[in-house]
Amino acid sequence: MSTKVRVTIWNEFRHERKNEAVKKVYPDGMHAAIAKGLSASKDLVCRTATLDEPEHGLTETVLKETDALIWWGHVAHGDVKDEVVKRVQQHVLAGMGLVVLHSAHYSKIFRALMGTNCSLKWREADEKERFWNLAPGHPITEGLGEYFELPYEEMYGERFDIPEPDKLIFVSWFEGGEVFRSGCCWDRGNGRVFYFRPGHETYPTYHDANVIRVIANACRWARRRVTMATDKTPNSPALEPIQKKTVKFGRAGVQQ
Ligand code: ZN
Repeated sequence: MSTKVRVTIWNEFRHERKNEAVKKVYPDGMHAAIAKGLSASKDLVCRTATLDEPEHGLTETVLKETDALIWWGHVAHGDVKDEVVKRVQQHVLAGMGLVVLHSAHYSKIFRALMGTNCSLKWREADEKERFWNLAPGHPITEGLGEYFELPYEEMYGERFDIPEPDKLIFVSWFEGGEVFRSGCCWDRGNGRVFYFRPGHETYPTYHDANVIRVIANACRWARRRVTMATDKTPNSPALEPIQKKTVKFGRAGVQQ
């Protein structure tokens, strides 16, 4: 396994082109800001892909060459083609890592992998968010202290309709009083999935050093370790001779 992690940062890239407030914070798009932040880590090799590219920039070749895929989406979840979602899902099940950011809680790919609606409560009121580190020593919290804060963020509140995380990394507290499971890990097939809450488009969240550190750590944790497609159920020849039986059974099952 190479020491380099090949990261693809996928962004819907719609708000930044239509909304002046968002354009001001992310003139080249959130994907460019995340790529710039991650590029300080020499072990991460970044490329970007956006919704309006052919096949949303996520061709079979791009996904094959991706160890960890980052996903940001919000207003255009419905524009993501089902065939691309299926392709990404199969790559995760085969071993590719997926880092799901902020409003991508409602993306087709995250909901498909979770099997639940992934709904939550929200409020846009420029609130302070404090991330409590529940897993010191975990690769995703490397370099972080007991907590870190963002001065302005959108609030996400419970109940977050997700399956129980395999490991909970952060719980967020918001100025208005809510708490939220803001860093969650799951295994899916041979792949790893990490959901990380912050990143509302009007705030400079992806310019924050702690946020970038978590995303970089998450890419390293979730990176592809194997590639093992699991979308076939082959009839398997026996490794050892099987004794001929005297009883007779029918053969009904046909699996491909
Ligand atoms: Zn938001």
